Amino acid sequence: MALQIVHHPDYDAGFAVNHRFPMSKYPLLMEALRARGLAVPEALSMPEPAPAAWLKLAHAADYVDQVLACEVPARIEREIGFPVGQRVSLRAQLATAGTVLAARLALKHGIACNAAGGSHHARRAQGAGFCTFNDVAVASLALLAEGAAENILVVDLDVHQGDGTADILKDEPRAFTFSMHGDRNYPARKIASDLDIALPDGTGDAAYLDRLRAILPELSARRRWDMVFYNAGVDVHAEDRLGRLSLTDNGLRARDKTVISHFRARGIPLCGVIGGGYSTDAPALAARHAILFEAAAAYA
Ligand SMILES: [Zn+2]
Repeated sequence: MALQIVHHPDYDAGFAVNHRFPMSKYPLLMEALRARGLAVPEALSMPEPAPAAWLKLAHAADYVDQVLACEVPARIEREIGFPVGQRVSLRAQLATAGTVLAARLALKHGIACNAAGGSHHARRAQGAGFCTFNDVAVASLALLAEGAAENILVVDLDVHQGDGTADILKDEPRAFTFSMHGDRNYPARKIASDLDIALPDGTGDAAYLDRLRAILPELSARRRWDMVFYNAGVDVHAEDRLGRLSLTDNGLRARDKTVISHFRARGIPLCGVIGGGYSTDAPALAARHAILFEAAAAYA
């Protein structure tokens, strides 16, 4: 079977190429997936913008209204890292709905990936750190609200700690948040997940994979999970501008395969999101994000 992939051309909000947020990685990722034969029309889905009601499950109603009206206060836009105009607002609604759609596809097919998402710094009150809406938190709460899942696990392996997801889901006992990240990376003030592993600078493939392989059985033993959201941020890579953990391409590949095979071997549906990646070499960055899809395709 072909891997179910969710994508929308407007995931790309068209920033200048030298912007600190490498927006061109979204179309380049789709190119990379097509070149690898992974994006086939019959397994490609496109989301509609997320309804406000979904967004308000995870975010303060006044903040959601501000984003939808493109009237986000300048103070919050500074924390997000870019102004929230029409295209950024639409992009955030689409990427969030994309993760909801990918989660539903994962429930049906076992595994699916959104070619965006992982906006894990967006907290309940507001966005931050290049994240406008927290797609994984919205999707978790939407699945719980509609009774599609009872127990949700978030496995966040982006190099940055999943503070926003932890904030939004902290009072939701049916969702468990796990983040393994660089101790010295953003955010400086972390919001505790249900379980956090902070790694030292320069951890490297071997030590990283050891920690991961040791923790996965603990995570799957906690409960019978109905759904795993996997944030496969590639900013753990040695050549990433913002990461400090020094993984190689092979390390990334082993990481994604380890996570996906662990949960799929136990019959647990997995929804992958791409998370962060900040190399200035956009084609190399897109190829790095494609690794998640290559690993996922082996279990589709
Ligand atoms: Zn990150």
